[in-house]
Amino acid sequence: DSSSGSSGFFSKRTFPGRVPAGIGRKSLRIVVTGGAGFVGSHLVDKLISRGDEVIVIDNFFTGRKENLVHMFRNPRFELIRHDVVEPILLEVDQIYHLACPASPVHYKYNPTNVMGTLNMLGLAKRVGARFLLTSTSEVYGDPLEHPQKETYWGNVNPIGERSCYDEGKRTAETLTMDYHRGADVEVRIARIFNTYGPRMCLDDGRVVSNFVAQVIRKQPMTVYGDGKQTRSFQYVSDLVDGLVALMEGEHVGPFNLGNPGEFTMLELAEVVKETIDSSATIEFKPNTADDPHKRKPDISKARELLNWEPRISLREGLPLMVNDFRNRILNGDEGKGL
Ligand code: NAD
Ligand code: UDP
Ligand code: UDP
Repeated sequence: DSSSGSSGFFSKRTFPGRVPAGIGRKSLRIVVTGGAGFVGSHLVDKLISRGDEVIVIDNFFTGRKENLVHMFRNPRFELIRHDVVEPILLEVDQIYHLACPASPVHYKYNPTNVMGTLNMLGLAKRVGARFLLTSTSEVYGDPLEHPQKETYWGNVNPIGERSCYDEGKRTAETLTMDYHRGADVEVRIARIFNTYGPRMCLDDGRVVSNFVAQVIRKQPMTVYGDGKQTRSFQYVSDLVDGLVALMEGEHVGPFNLGNPGEFTMLELAEVVKETIDSSATIEFKPNTADDPHKRKPDISKARELLNWEPRISLREGLPLMVNDFRNRILNGDEGKGL
C-alpha cells in the first residue's frame, strides 16, 4: 500500500517533479527501511530536499506517520506499510536499512535484525543497489577498550536480555560482509552511538527522551544505578550527515558515527535541568541487566576517510528537541505507532 505517497499527484498544489539532484548528479531512487522512525524520518527529509526519490518501508512498530506527514503530497515520496521480515520486490539505486526495534522495551519482540537484513541484502543483490546497514555501538557490548575503535571486537553477553539487539546487529554486520564478499554487493556499515533529537519516541525508555519528557511533565528524572555510567550523545542531524557521507563515499566501514563528548547520567540530568527547568529533581532506580558502564566513540576513521565529524554539542542540541517534546506531550501524543 503506497497510496498515501502518491496522493500528491492529483492534488491542486504544485510540486516540482523529478528534478536534477544537484549539478552533475542524476536523481536516485532510494529505499529507507524504518523511515517512519526517529532517525529515518530525518534522513528522508535530507534525501528529498536534495532532489532524490524516496521509498519508505515501515511496519509502524515504533515509527509514526506523523514523522512523515509533511511528505505525503510530495510526488517524489512513497510510503509502504510492510514488515521487512517478509520479502519485497523493488527497483532502486540505494538502500538505507534502518528498520529495527531499537530500544530495550521493543527489541525483544522481533527477528528484524536477521531476517529483515537478509531480505534487504537479497534485494540489493538482485537490483545491484548499494546497501547501508545502521549497526550500533552496542556491538562493543560492555567495552573493555575505551574509547572504542572500529577494530575492537567487543565484549558481548550472547545469552543476556540485550542479546537479541546487540547479537542481532552483529549478525546483521556478518550477513552484510558475507553479501559483500560472496555476492559483490556494495555495502556500507555505520555503528551508531546514542543519538537524540526531535521525533524521538516518547515511550521507548531511552535516557535522553526519558529525562526530557519527565522534566516537561514535572516528574523526577529516573537515574538508573548510581548514574556514573557514561554515554556519548549525538544530535540527529550530525548522524544523518554521517550516514549520507558514508553511503556516498568509497569505504565499506564499519565506521563509528557518534559524538565523542562523554557524560555520566548524572551530568546528563544536570544539563537537562539547566536546559528545561532549574527546579527539576532526580530519583534513583535499579539499573537494567548487562548495562554497559561506559561508551565513547573514537571517530578518527570517519574524520579521516569520510571527512565527517559532529558539529552540535549536547548543550546546543538539547534545546532543539524540547519544543517538539513539549508539543507532543501537551497534545497527548505519547509517540505510539498508528
Ligand atoms: P526508531 O524505533 O525510531 O525507528 C525504527 C523504525 O523501524 C520504526 O519506524 C519502526 O516502525 C521500523 N521497524 C521496526 N521493525 C520493522 C520491521 N520488521 N519492518 C519494517 N519496519 C520496521 O529507532 P531509531 O532510533 O530511528 O533507529 C534507527 C536505526 O538506527 C535502527 O536500526 C537502530 O538500531 C539504529 N541505531 C539507533 C541509535 C539511536 O540512538 N537512535 C543508536 C544505535 C543504532
Ligand atoms: N529478497 C527480497 N527481494 C528481492 C530479492 C530477494 O526480499 O528483490 C529476499 C529473498 O526472498 C530472500 C532473501 O532476500 O529471502 C535473500 O535473497 P538471496 O537471493 O540472496 O537468497 P536466496 O533466495 O537465493 O536464498
Ligand atoms: N538510563 C537512566 N535512566 C533512564 C533510562 C536509561 O539512567 O530513564 C541509563 C541506562 O541505564 C544506561 C544509559 O542511561 O546506562 C543509556 O541508556 P539508553 O537505553 O538510552 O541507551 P543504551 O543503553 O542503549 O546506550
